Amino acid sequence: MTDTMRGVIFVGDGKVEVREFPKPKPSGTQVLVAMKASGLCGSDMHSYRQSAEYWAKAPIIRGHEPSGVIVEVGEAVSMVQVGDRVSVYHAPACNHCEACARGEFFNCTTIGPGNRLASMKVHGSDADYVLVDQNVCFVLPDELSFEDGSTIACAGGTAYHALRRGDVRGGEYVLVSGLGPVGLCAVQLAQAMGGIVIGSDPVAFRREFALKHGASYVVDPMAGPLGEQVKDITGEGAEVVIETSGNDQARVDVVACTPYHARLVYVGWGGNARNAIYGPMLGERWITGSNMFTHEDYHTLVRFMLRQGIRFSDLVTHRFSLEQAQAAFDAFASRDTGKVVFTWD
Ligand SMILES: [Zn+2]
Ligand SMILES: [Zn+2]
Repeated sequence: MTDTMRGVIFVGDGKVEVREFPKPKPSGTQVLVAMKASGLCGSDMHSYRQSAEYWAKAPIIRGHEPSGVIVEVGEAVSMVQVGDRVSVYHAPACNHCEACARGEFFNCTTIGPGNRLASMKVHGSDADYVLVDQNVCFVLPDELSFEDGSTIACAGGTAYHALRRGDVRGGEYVLVSGLGPVGLCAVQLAQAMGGIVIGSDPVAFRREFALKHGASYVVDPMAGPLGEQVKDITGEGAEVVIETSGNDQARVDVVACTPYHARLVYVGWGGNARNAIYGPMLGERWITGSNMFTHEDYHTLVRFMLRQGIRFSDLVTHRFSLEQAQAAFDAFASRDTGKVVFTWD
């Protein structure tokens, strides 16, 4: 075995490079995971477009949707073992502070902000190996593939958590605004939860893809007022909205797609209206944010996928080797994709 590995970094303005890095060595409770699938995320695309000056300061490996096999463990590892197939939760957690006790691992106060995989400090999983603590490695059932495990690690888990916050009930209309990876996972899951799903996205490829994966209806938000389009389908409106696009206009427009007492969940990043305040007091609409997912969500989501026959790997449209990193990010940036992943044989 060599003591180096390949890793993908951003060099600025949409350019990516594959570089050699030292292969990490686990110690204590750390484990080394050999990657089998590592997904591209919508949130990567903000940093992918950052300047060359920005990235010159942080040659840190990208990727935070890891799934693979544990190949080496530190001397204090007791929860997992070499050979385990795992999905890796990308926010490190102490499992002890108040935030962790509430299941808000993304707010862990012991480890602090900025230490997620592929932050500006910690190498991510678009690499042959990733070094993580044992407590973020969740064993994958044999029925689920590494692509499923990778998608659960961010997009799928995030979609599931948002739907749970939206409390989808059978027979309700669920509007999924934005049909990128999180939105597509939300479409698949919401239908299996009994929702009647309406997908909204300006990209034709994504609307067509959503129709094949659980959406009963799709609308183009550029084709006319979104509220009118959705109410033409639903009558009174969609009882649940999952807003994944992070687009300011979409954040406002989805309110007009709902009846009084609807539940609106804002999960997409970006834009300026980070705390949408439109519509909650009139009509007692319930608006909430949703940030990543919890360890409990991992277990209930996996059980849900097994019982309902959901496979996120069905959403993968493009697979690339690490050497094809530029082509992978360019394809994802075109938006004519479902889920895009790096795979290893
Ligand atoms: Zn992500
Ligand atoms: Zn903590």
